[in-house]
Amino acid sequence: MTKTLAPTPEGLASAAHLLSSGELVAFPTETVYGLGGDARSDIAVARIFDAKGRPRFNPLIVHLPDLAAARDIALFDDLAERMAAAFWPGPLTLVLPLRPSARLSPLVTADLPSVALRVPEHPTAQALLRHFGGPLAAPSANLSGKVSPTRAEHVMAGLNRRIAAVIDGGTCAVGIESTILGLTEDPVLLRPGGIPAEALEACLGFPLADAPNCERPAAPGQLASHYAPRAAVRLNAAAPEPGEFWLGFGAGARDADLNLSPTGDLVAAAANLFHYLRQADDRATGCIAVSPIPEKGLGRAINDRLRRAAAPRS
Ligand code: AMP
Ligand code: MG
Repeated sequence: MTKTLAPTPEGLASAAHLLSSGELVAFPTETVYGLGGDARSDIAVARIFDAKGRPRFNPLIVHLPDLAAARDIALFDDLAERMAAAFWPGPLTLVLPLRPSARLSPLVTADLPSVALRVPEHPTAQALLRHFGGPLAAPSANLSGKVSPTRAEHVMAGLNRRIAAVIDGGTCAVGIESTILGLTEDPVLLRPGGIPAEALEACLGFPLADAPNCERPAAPGQLASHYAPRAAVRLNAAAPEPGEFWLGFGAGARDADLNLSPTGDLVAAAANLFHYLRQADDRATGCIAVSPIPEKGLGRAINDRLRRAAAPRS
């Protein structure tokens, strides 16, 4: 059963405690309810993808209490500082270069060198972030493909028994997602949302380009800047060929060089995936052979990522 917590000091303390244990807690923001997990914890972030039933590891928005906390995670140039000063706290997400020292789980950024940050205005979101004392990864608190929730009941309708708790903070005022502004290159509107593009343009002083292709951020494996292993990757390998590095999964792969989850736990495998792909790439002298991963639950997202890693390079 998913607990419903009140936005009181006691409720917030329970929520912060759950989050510190790697559990998931949905919370109100001014846009929609977010499904929060510790952005530094691989297992917590893997649980977010699992709870939502997402078929892909697309990058998540990281929520912070203020600009000072955001500066610890991303690099802010003058333009980013100006946009943050004008619109934070509020329904604007900025995509910025990730600081290597940020120590976020690579699942949050889908292993990209950029990160999406937002400082929400909602008093309950603010209070939770301050109680918790760390960055919260939080996509909308609905099953993948369903509409975003604007009331605690909506969260329960989709995610009851899939998450630890929801904080009931009433109805979200804005009711649509945050506007996403990409600032890693020329400013680009990655997603329209709670702040109109005209308001951003008035602050920037010039018109904004639309995202060249809306699918782009949703498919990080296709980004040129996305990490791809140097070594060749062979999928569905029951056992390695001589000279191959074996990235295993499950009890049948006891002799693997690395095992994504010896017990065959897909959430654990997702939590390890990006770390182990990098380690395998560093250690492999030939091809990386990967055990079959069941095409169910988080296995679909893992296989999606592995297929990209194995795709021929141009
Ligand atoms: P949500 O599902 O509301 O958390 O939306 C997350 C969206 O933010 C993604 O689908 C991307 O469009 C965008 N996004 C998040 N992180 C990044 C990033 N590092 N680079 C580019 N876009 C991002
Ligand atoms: Mg969503």
